[in-house]
Amino acid sequence: MKIHEYQAKEIFASVGIPVPPGEVASDPGTAEAIAVRYNKPVMVKSQVLVGGRGKAGGVKYAESPEAARVLATKILGMDIKGETVNKVLITEAVDILSESYVGIILDRATQRPVIMVSPAGGVDIEEVAAKTPEKIHKLAVDPVVGLKLFQARDLAYTLYRDIGQVRKCADILMKLYEAFWKVDASLVEINPLITTPGGDVLAIDAKVNIDDNALFRQKEVEAMRDLDAEEASEVKAREADLSYVKLDGYIGCCVNGAGLAMATMDLVKRYGGDPANFLDIGGSSNPQKVVTAMSIILTDPNVRAVLINIFGGITRCDDVATGIVQAFEEFKPTVPVVVRLTGTNEKEGQKILASCKLPSADTLDEAVKKAIELAGNAA
Ligand code: GDP
Ligand code: MN
Repeated sequence: MKIHEYQAKEIFASVGIPVPPGEVASDPGTAEAIAVRYNKPVMVKSQVLVGGRGKAGGVKYAESPEAARVLATKILGMDIKGETVNKVLITEAVDILSESYVGIILDRATQRPVIMVSPAGGVDIEEVAAKTPEKIHKLAVDPVVGLKLFQARDLAYTLYRDIGQVRKCADILMKLYEAFWKVDASLVEINPLITTPGGDVLAIDAKVNIDDNALFRQKEVEAMRDLDAEEASEVKAREADLSYVKLDGYIGCCVNGAGLAMATMDLVKRYGGDPANFLDIGGSSNPQKVVTAMSIILTDPNVRAVLINIFGGITRCDDVATGIVQAFEEFKPTVPVVVRLTGTNEKEGQKILASCKLPSADTLDEAVKKAIELAGNAA
């Protein structure tokens, strides 16, 4: 899960990382009022869940409160890489002497949090990694031992010469590591970490990605989720406890079990089709879940045929069939729906489905081919 800069800064501030004061506004009047209160030049920063806002014109300096209002008017509603700006962060502008990069990611290769620092901050770190990898210093931290101050200092020395700044940076790295654990992050990033002419070290940008699998114990963080910035169908699926990922193809897939869903998508591809989604209705056989799943699939305008593939184990085919019939009554699908039902209570399931007069198939291969054919794209 991604969160906005202003939310990431709240997390940073909660562990003591210095960030300039700021507040969010959803309208130009509020933006101006915040700037009046600060009584200083401010930055007007678009809050979207994508990077590179500065380059896209979504981060601007405002000398006066009036300028903040004018810039907020311009930035609110702007489209940045497909995301609409609904909020701006109004934050005190600071004088920047130097910009560095510091971040921690969970690295699957070493199975450890890896701290990365680079004096080439402010710019796209992927570009630094590709063109001048020698400018990035890394340390894989043993999670049992944790990050030690001497290690943080070693890293800080690659960024700064001044001992005061090295100490401040090392302290920030220790706190960043703390924040990484505290919120079950998969990534925390400060780009840029800046120095001011007065010698201060500050985080003026903040990025935090949370491991979705930890959200059950991160209620406060989960409450930060921005539903406006997410695919509406994915929100609906999550609320119904379905695992759903929207894709770009045209065969809607409704499957029980993640493994079978993957295999189904592979087969769709193999026979020349293109899946519109990944959807796992889970192991339980709750007809309502099937109804919700169908409503999500059928509202995708790219879907030209639906393939329902159920292997009944714990899942009972009759329950799934009941859900399918219910979905047909409710949504009256205009696209062909192919069902392959096998396993527990298969016969009962088929009987229930008979009323829908659906093209059915006995084997998965047949079902997949039929769905593609009916979608008008026979391989
Ligand atoms: P990003 O483009 O989405 O990464 O947004 P950032 O928050 O990193 O801002 C982009 C750039 O704007 C930074 O790298 C800075 O150079 C500049 N910037 C942001 N805040 C300030 C500020 O308070 N003062 C000054 N002078 N520049 C700033
Ligand atoms: Mn940045």
